[in-house]
Amino acid sequence: MAKRVYLFNEGNKDDRELLGGKGANLCEMTNMGLPVPFGFIITTATCREFFQGGNKLPRLLEQEYRVALDLVEKKMGARFGDPDNPLLFSVRSGAPVSMPGMMNTILNLGLNDEIVEGLAARTGNPRFAYDSYRRFISMFADVVMGVDGDRFEQEIERYKAANGKTLDVEMSAEDWQEIIRIYKELVDFPEDPFEQLRRSVEAVFLSWHTPRAIVYREMNNIPDSLGTAVNVQAMVFGNFGEDSGSGVAFTRNPSTGEHHFFGELLFNAAGEDVVAGIRTPLALEALKERMPQVYEELDRHQATLEKHYRDMQDLEFTIQEGTLYMLQTRSGKRTGRASVKIAVDMVNEGLITESEALMRVSPEHVEAFLHPMVDPAQKRDIVATGLPASPGGATGQVVFSAEEAEEQSALGHTVILVRRETTPEDIHGMKVAAGILTELGGMTSHAAVVARGMGVCAITGCDAISIDYKGATVTTRDGVVIRRGEVITLDGTSGEVMLGDIPKTEASSSDDFQTLLSWADKHRRLRVRANAETPEDAAKALELGAEGIGLCRTEHMFFDADRIDNMRAMILAESARERKKYLDILFQYQYEDMLALFKVMDGLPVNVRLLDPPLHEFLPHGDDEIAELAERIGKPAKKIREIADNMSEVNPMLGFRGCRLSVVYPEITEMQVRAIISAAIDAAAQGCKPLPEIMIPLVVNVREIRLVNEIIDKGVHEVFKEKNASIAYKIGTMMETPRATLGADRLAPEVEFMSFGTNDLTQMTYGFSRDDVGKFIPRYLEKKLVDADPFVSLDQRAVGRLMELAVTESRAVKKGIKYGICGEHGGDPRSIRFCHEIGLDYVSCSPFRVPIARIAAAQANVGEEITD
Ligand code: PEP
Ligand code: MG
Repeated sequence: MAKRVYLFNEGNKDDRELLGGKGANLCEMTNMGLPVPFGFIITTATCREFFQGGNKLPRLLEQEYRVALDLVEKKMGARFGDPDNPLLFSVRSGAPVSMPGMMNTILNLGLNDEIVEGLAARTGNPRFAYDSYRRFISMFADVVMGVDGDRFEQEIERYKAANGKTLDVEMSAEDWQEIIRIYKELVDFPEDPFEQLRRSVEAVFLSWHTPRAIVYREMNNIPDSLGTAVNVQAMVFGNFGEDSGSGVAFTRNPSTGEHHFFGELLFNAAGEDVVAGIRTPLALEALKERMPQVYEELDRHQATLEKHYRDMQDLEFTIQEGTLYMLQTRSGKRTGRASVKIAVDMVNEGLITESEALMRVSPEHVEAFLHPMVDPAQKRDIVATGLPASPGGATGQVVFSAEEAEEQSALGHTVILVRRETTPEDIHGMKVAAGILTELGGMTSHAAVVARGMGVCAITGCDAISIDYKGATVTTRDGVVIRRGEVITLDGTSGEVMLGDIPKTEASSSDDFQTLLSWADKHRRLRVRANAETPEDAAKALELGAEGIGLCRTEHMFFDADRIDNMRAMILAESARERKKYLDILFQYQYEDMLALFKVMDGLPVNVRLLDPPLHEFLPHGDDEIAELAERIGKPAKKIREIADNMSEVNPMLGFRGCRLSVVYPEITEMQVRAIISAAIDAAAQGCKPLPEIMIPLVVNVREIRLVNEIIDKGVHEVFKEKNASIAYKIGTMMETPRATLGADRLAPEVEFMSFGTNDLTQMTYGFSRDDVGKFIPRYLEKKLVDADPFVSLDQRAVGRLMELAVTESRAVKKGIKYGICGEHGGDPRSIRFCHEIGLDYVSCSPFRVPIARIAAAQANVGEEITD
C-alpha cells in the first residue's frame, strides 16, 4: 500500500505532485536545516482516494498520521491534546500547482476548554491563549462546520459595542473568554483534538471542490484530477507579545525586480493579520532596527533559499519570542518588468543559464514593454467583457464614428472608438483612437487584425454591450449606460471594459529586455517576420526585430480615405476600359508603396500577397455611403447600388476573393506584378537589395496556380523588357483552404514557398465565420466546447494536422520549399511552438508581436533542448 503520510524530513522539492507545492517546499527547507516548525503531509493521492471512496477518509489513514504525529511531538517537545504541554497545529491545503487563498486553512487546532487553560498557564499569557482559542473556534466552525464566519464577527462587534470597546487590542483575556462562551452557544464544537484533526483533514480535501477553487482551476487550466495535499504543521505564534511577529518577504522586489531583500511584517500579530491587511504592516527595516539578529538570520535564509531554488522566492516567516521560524517558500509572482530584470540579473550573477532565463519569461510579461498596460494593482470596475483582440490598456472618451474620432482627437481629446464592427471605412478613425471596442467580430475580424497591426488596444466580440448609434449610447448587459464623451478604459489583454480612467503602466523598452531578446535570437531556429504593409509599420517591425515581411496585404494599402474611392471605383467598374483607368491610379500607389517598403526592408524578404479583398469589406453600405461615393467618383448612385447589389454575396468570406479575382480580372494581377517588379528594379537601381516574393492567395488547386503564374510571368517579363533590367523574385502560395493543404504535393512543383494563412484555414476547417464567431465563441469557451479560441491558438488536432500533412507531402515532392505561417497564430506562443515542431522556416505576425514571437520561438527550441 502506498505511503499516505510523509514527515517534513521525508520529502523534497521535487515531490510537488504527491506532496503539493507547499509541502514539498516545507520538506526542502527542513532538509536544508532551516528553522521550520515540524509537521507532516497527507498526500494528494490520499485526496483522490478520499473522493473515490465517496468523500470518506481511507480506513487506516488515522493510524498512519498518528504515528507521524508522535514523531512531531518528540521533535517539538510538546504533545497534542496534553493540557500541561500542548502542541497545536495548523492544517492547510497545498495543491501541486499554486492556488493562493482558494482552499481552506485551520489554525490553532488542538485547543479545547481544558487545553486553553494549560496554554494560558504555560505561556503565562492568558490573553493570548483565549484569543487563539476564539480564533480557532470561529475558523473551525466556518471551514469545517459550514457556519457563516460573519456571525462570529457580528458577535464580537455586538460585544464591543455593549462594553464600550472598538479595537481588538482593547479586548482583555476575560473579554475573549466571554466571546468563547457566546461562540460555544452558537455551535456544537468538538472538544476532542483528534476529532478536530480528522474533521479538518476532511474539510481541506473537500475544499478542493468549493466553487471558487473550481473557477480558479478553470481559469488557470489546472486539471481537476490533481487533488490537494494536507499540511499539518506545529503552530508557532507571532502574536505572543512584542518580541513576536509575522511577515512576508520577497528575495527581490517583485514589482521592479531590483535585487534587494524586500518585505513587510507586523509585530505581535499572527500571519493571517498580515495577509488580511487590517493593520498596516511595517517595512523589514523595522525588524532590522528592533531585532537585528533575527533580521540577519532571516536575511541569511532568504539568500540561501534563493540560491538553492535559483529563482526569486516569496517567503512567510514568524518570530515567536525572538526565535525565527520559516513557514513557506515558493517562487514569487512578479510583474512583467520584474520578470525580465530578474531573469537577466540571474544569468549575470551566474545563477541560471540563458536558456533558463528565456523560459522564465511569459508572453504577457513581454507585453508590458510594448504597450501601456492597465495597472494590475488598481481596482477595476468591470462593466463588460469581450475578446482580448489587441493587447495593452487605453482610456478615452467614447466616440461612435471614425469622423467623430478624428474631430475629437484633433481637439486634443483621447478617444475610444466604439463600433458594432469596423470596415476599411473606419481606418482613419482607428488610426487616431487610443482604443477600439466592437460589439461583433472575432479575433481575426477586421477590427482585430487592423488594431493588432497598428499596436492599438482593442476588444472585439463584446456581446455584453449594445450600441445605439442614434442615441449615442452603449448599454451593457447589466444595464449600465455609457454616453458619448464619457471616459472608459479598455484592457485589450484581458478583454475587460471599465468605467473611468484606470491608471496604466508605461510601455518602454529596457536594456534588460534587449539583452533577453538578443539571447532569444541566439537560441531560436524559427525566423520571425512581420505582417505589414506601410513603410511606418515595416520600420516599426524592423525596430522590433523582424527579419522580413511575411505578409503584405496589398488590399490594406488602399484603405486610406484618398485611395479607397479608387479601389471601390475599380471594383465597381463596368468595362475593362473603366477598370484600367482606376488600375492605373492604383498602380501608382502600389508602386510607390512597394518602393518605400523595399527601401525600408533593404536586404530582407518582402512577401507581397496579390489582392485579396473580401468584397463586403470594400463595397459601400447603405444609402448615405452610396450617395457620398457617387458624388466623389462621379457615378450615379443608382448605378452603384445596382452593381453593389449584383456583387453582394451571401457568403463574402467564401466568395469572390483571393486568386479568384485573378481568374476573372487578370488585369488586376498584371497591374500588381508590374508595380512590385518595377519598384524592386528601381529600388535596386537606388542601391537597395530588394527580395520580392509574390504570394498567390486562397488557392484550391494547381491549375489556379499555373494560371496565375502565367499572368505573373508575363507581367514580370514585360517589365524586365521595358526597363532592360531584371531582378530575382520568388513565387509561392498561401495555404488557406483545406483543399490546398490536402493537395500540397500537387502544388509543390509550382512554388518556392508556402505560407499558411491560418485565419482562413481555421475558418474553413471549422466552418466558423471569422466575422461572426464573436457572437458565439465566448459561450463555447464558457461551456468548454473548445479548449481555446481556434482563431487565437492554432487547433493542432485538425488545422495543425492539415499543415503538417502539407509540409510532409510537399517536401517529399520538392526539396527547398520554404514554409511559413502568416495567419494571426503566427504571433501566438503556443502556435509558434507547434510551427517549430512541424519544421516551418518562419512565423509572421503583427509588428508589435515580433518580440513575443522571438521569445516564443526560442522557448520552443530551448524547451526541446531541456526535454531532450
Ligand atoms: C489568413 O487567412 O490567415 C491570412 C493571413 O489572410 P487574411 O487574414 O488577410 O485573410
Ligand atoms: Mg486569408
